[in-house]
Amino acid sequence: MTGPYRESSSPCPRCGTAIAPVKGRSKWRCPSCVGTLVEEAELSLIRGWTGFVVRAPTDTPLECPLCADDMASVTVVDIALDYCARDRVVWCDSGELGRVRTAIAKDALVVDPRSLVAILFGSDGDAT
Ligand SMILES: [Zn+2]
Ligand SMILES: [Zn+2]
Repeated sequence: MTGPYRESSSPCPRCGTAIAPVKGRSKWRCPSCVGTLVEEAELSLIRGWTGFVVRAPTDTPLECPLCADDMASVTVVDIALDYCARDRVVWCDSGELGRVRTAIAKDALVVDPRSLVAILFGSDGDAT
């Protein structure tokens, strides 16, 4: 299997450390600040996912680790994230991905309690 390696050294948009692909997942993690770059396709698997709301660009946009373009400012529920439309990836600072899952779970109108547990305590931290 060939992994999703696009470049050998993709810099973390927050601290510049090379981010590392997470095995078997459509995401990358910064070993230094523990931020995560996630493919939109993976986020869209979250139950209750309704997509992004695009905000006005900030004065200091993050640079996409994969293509070096400025990332767009987006929100999911109330949480601000950074999104590269070219690569369809989202940058989440440390802990932000968990907050997104929690916020979506709370926001969802119909939630199966078992799936809520899976969302809240599910699979995000399994690679560490
Ligand atoms: Zn970092
Ligand atoms: Zn990009």
